[in-house]
Amino acid sequence: MRKPIIAGNWKMYKTAAEAKQFVEEVKGLAPDASKVDSVICAPALYLQQLVASTESSALQIGAQTMHEEKEGAFTGEVSPVQLKDLGVNYVIIGHSERRQYFNETDQSVNKKVVAAFEHGLTPIMCVGETLEQRESGETGSVVEAQVEAGLAGLSEQQASELVIAYEPIWAIGTGKTATAEDANEVCGIIRKKVASLFNEETAQNIRIQYGGSVKPANIEELMGMEHIDGALVGGASLETDSFVKLLEAG
Ligand code: PGA
Repeated sequence: MRKPIIAGNWKMYKTAAEAKQFVEEVKGLAPDASKVDSVICAPALYLQQLVASTESSALQIGAQTMHEEKEGAFTGEVSPVQLKDLGVNYVIIGHSERRQYFNETDQSVNKKVVAAFEHGLTPIMCVGETLEQRESGETGSVVEAQVEAGLAGLSEQQASELVIAYEPIWAIGTGKTATAEDANEVCGIIRKKVASLFNEETAQNIRIQYGGSVKPANIEELMGMEHIDGALVGGASLETDSFVKLLEAG
């Protein structure tokens, strides 16, 4: 059985005081870590503070992106070594906003996924199609190509530990959710692709999240689907009440 993983992606929201208050309110309410992985992916600025304040709780802290090099002359960037040093466990890689606005490609996503594992971080690798691709029937092939490129060079063990977030781009921040059936179908395609790249056991181990306008009103139906093992949540992860409800549904 795969352990559900619910991750909030705060994006570029919250001040330090707001982040601190949120975590103080939520940390005691997160479900037992043996049942659900509860993660907040916060702005890099707050990671140190949030790791410290969640130390003895079930809440885990993740980053939203990282550079693939362990150090170097890359002004403004954060390295996997720096994240690990702070006690961060997870890192989102290749979010569609990073692909769209910061020129990330399947190749750079792959480098980051490999680097994350090398430095002891668990990547949450995002894939997903645009509305145009969905309407022209390319969803399956687009997502399969992203998975194949993103997982290149990983060992079976690493692939088993990876988290993939299926996020149809047209559903992010738009209030439009894929139907649970459509989301499950694409997550099933991803799992099948992992089986063909590695083997059936790896495919059964890998956790696949759905992301895109997940909220308390739709999470239960999504989580009831065979291939959906969790959610990556933007908007609804910013309010304590809704985030706690999402964790409880995990
Ligand atoms: P949303 O964002 O939940 O606000 O649609 C999801 C994401 O970008 O990961």
